[in-house]
Amino acid sequence: MTNELIAALYVVPTPLGNLGDLTRRAEEVLRSVPWVAAEDTRHSGPLLKQLGAQARTLPAHQHNEHEAAARIVEKLQAGEAVALISDAGTPGISDPGARIVAAVRAAGCQVVPLPGACAATTALSGSGLTDEHFLFYGFLPSKGGQRRQALEALRELPYALVFYEAPHRVLETVDDMAKVFGERTLVIARELTKLFETVHSLPLAAALDWLKEDSNRQRGEFVLMLSGAPSDADDGEGERVLKLLLDEGISVKQAAKLAAAITGAAKNALYERALALKS
Ligand code: SAM
Repeated sequence: MTNELIAALYVVPTPLGNLGDLTRRAEEVLRSVPWVAAEDTRHSGPLLKQLGAQARTLPAHQHNEHEAAARIVEKLQAGEAVALISDAGTPGISDPGARIVAAVRAAGCQVVPLPGACAATTALSGSGLTDEHFLFYGFLPSKGGQRRQALEALRELPYALVFYEAPHRVLETVDDMAKVFGERTLVIARELTKLFETVHSLPLAAALDWLKEDSNRQRGEFVLMLSGAPSDADDGEGERVLKLLLDEGISVKQAAKLAAAITGAAKNALYERALALKS
């Protein structure tokens, strides 16, 4: 299965937690390259050792991307292949790597990105959110005022929104989300691919209480996903009809379908809305 390595920068995703998620191709590349540029060489050491990789490592973290890029370009121009890895998931996705890739491309060298583990796409695929589009935001600002401002700017977007969050900020972030967005569906994906993996979907307004109910729910690594704003086509009319139908005792699914057919509003958004109204 080995494709002959070329003198390129291989961007290699590594597992989020479950070592079985390293692809065969990633394994092959890490075993074959003479150099691995790693976000934290100590952190990645055990993985490389376990693979029996002989590569020498060089540090490539957020504080040295410029120098790391120069060293990598040197290796590539000397005809050597280099793999780029971060601590977990895909390099360059809320992780160092993008500047290195830019510098390598600017130097006229080749970049070969490998598909693989990424918390955002893993979480989204298990979320049950039905929005046609999504926006990956990554980490929100850590300061409350800036965070709320950032959320405000996203309020009208008819896309599912995907955020990364640290455990010590998850309560304040969810609280801010509820204040800014009002009624939406929130999906909390925690500890993906690990022992305490949880994917829980609930109305945004109920999320803070749910997290507070059990401190274990606030532990670990988080992806927070919000359903998108109802589309412009809705104009409030879809929701008005939806409420009338729900009040008549019609099921959530049927009410969303009928309200969409009657008003032309998006069925998926009405369905999410109906779920929120029902709870
Ligand atoms: N590059 C990584 C990727 O491709 O997903 C993301 C790295 S970023 C520094 C780390 C953040 O990703 C965590 O704070 C969390 O929000 C999310 N994350 C990483 N691993 C996760 C997991 N196993 N479960 C849930 N979220 C995770």
